[in-house]
Formats: sequence, C-alpha cells, structure tokens
Amino acid sequence: MIHVLDTRHLGRAGIIASTLLESDEGPILFDTGPESTFENIVGELNANGFAPRDVRHVFLSHIHFDHAGAAWRFADLGATIYVHPRGGPHLIDPRKLVASATRLYGHEMERLWGTVAAIAPERVRVLEDNDIVRVAPFEIRAIATPGHASHHHIYLWDDNVFGGDVAGVRLGNGPAVPPFVPPELEIESWLESIAKIRALNPAKLYLPHFGLVARDIAAHLDALGERVIRWSIWFRDRLRTGDDEQKMTPAFADYLAAELQALGATETEVADYEHADPSFMAVSAASRYWRKHHPDEVELPAGRDSASS
Ligand SMILES: [Zn+2]
Repeated sequence: MIHVLDTRHLGRAGIIASTLLESDEGPILFDTGPESTFENIVGELNANGFAPRDVRHVFLSHIHFDHAGAAWRFADLGATIYVHPRGGPHLIDPRKLVASATRLYGHEMERLWGTVAAIAPERVRVLEDNDIVRVAPFEIRAIATPGHASHHHIYLWDDNVFGGDVAGVRLGNGPAVPPFVPPELEIESWLESIAKIRALNPAKLYLPHFGLVARDIAAHLDALGERVIRWSIWFRDRLRTGDDEQKMTPAFADYLAAELQALGATETEVADYEHADPSFMAVSAASRYWRKHHPDEVELPAGRDSASS
C-alpha cells in the first residue's frame, strides 16, 4: 500500500507531500516534508495506523527543506536517512545549507521551514547511483537524476517511481512544470534525467508536489521537458536584453500565470503553483544557470560590434 501524506504546508492542501510505502519493516517514507509540518505528518501517520517511531527508513529525493526538513525528527526516533552522496554532508552539518537558505528566505525561514538540526552521522546512509536497498518485500533502487539539484535521486521499486522534483510539479488538474530553484539548476542534465525516467517506463509516478500520476506518464514527461527548454530560453532572451532579476520576477510570474490560465487554471490554482515554485526562485536559478554554464549566450550586445557577432 502506498499513501500520499499531505503536509498542508502553511495551511494549504495539495502542495507538499510525503509518500508512504507500507513494508514488512513498517512504513517507509519518501521525503518527509519540512520540519514546520512535522506534526501534520504525525497526524497523517496516525490516521494510517502508524506512529512516527514506526518509520525505520526515509528516502530523500534531495535535501531542500520542503523535502528533507523533517528528516532529522525521524532520525532522532531511529530512522535511517538515505540520501545522495552530495547531500549527506549537509544533513550531518546543515550550517552552510541554513546560511544559503537564509539568504533566500530571510526572516521567513522559521515560519516556512521550522527548525533545522543536524542528523547523527550513523543515521545517514549515502546511496550511489543504482544502489539498491532491500526493505522486504521491496528492492528500492536509487537513480541519480540531477537537473533540479545536483544531489537528486529518484527511487524505483517494482514499477513505481518516486520522482522527486526533477519529475515535475503538478498540482490539481494542472500541467507538469519544472521547479527552477537555485543554486544547482542545470538544464542539460535535467533533460537527461527526464529521459532516464522515461526509460524506466513506470506504471505509477509519485510527486512530492503533488501525489500520484497514474496515467499518461509519457505525456507528463514530454510536457515537462518542453517547459524545461522553453522556460530556460525565455530567461536567456531576457538576460540578453539586459533585464535584471527585479524586472524578470513579475514578468515570469505573469508568463507562468498566463500559461496556466490558458490551460484552464483558476486563480487559486495559479497561486498554488506560485507557492510550490516561486517566481523569484526561478528567476534567480535561471540567471545563475545561464551566467555560470553559458556566459557567452547571455552577454549583453552593448559595447560590442554587432556586425562581427
Ligand atoms: Zn527542490
């Protein structure tokens, strides 16, 4: 049995999930949600007949706070936390992670994500690409899938995939969109990761934002890949014209809202997408991506001889 647990982050349903798989060793969690919603997840566990202490295995897609923030709470109760090799050190010593998140969120940190605490090293188990963890009756395989973050895994068991953020954000009846967040956005590897998921041909895909995709997974992945490319080009073209991040943020919010509304989204649904995937983050991520990986693509024409370029 698989259950999608709703963290009801900031009181909003259907935005951030933790996914529960029932095993012979009790409930397995894929992502935990943020620490600020730990009590809601405890309530969801109770509603399914479990106590938080019953959770012995927590598989993290990546270490962003909306996915991994409550992992330390489960580790303190004895769970093993599985994570990508580049994520592990930040769970054991989260100071750098907190510092960089504080630059993004400022005084909102606590309200959004709750308390961040270190996880004891013996509770953290690093998984390399294709490592398999046996939790009877399942064999859970970690698959390295960078793009949204360099330290991202998806997990495969039977014909199910827990897709993390690289598999897209899809809320309500809305479309699949790629959450662009700094500092590790990488367009090329994101597209390769989508191809990896497609090759697995899963029957069921579970998303942290939000829940089960059981039909037309190929179409979901196609739509996601198309947006990864088109959005990145939208940002490239604005950077080329010299737009700064302050100017791009409302422009991208409008671009996204228009796209969602054209597909039939209500105002609430547009707001939900903005909540799951804030425009200011996408702008910061894409600007950083282009300047770091393709600086000559976004150089300003000013001062250059346009005839020679
Ligand atoms: Zn993320």
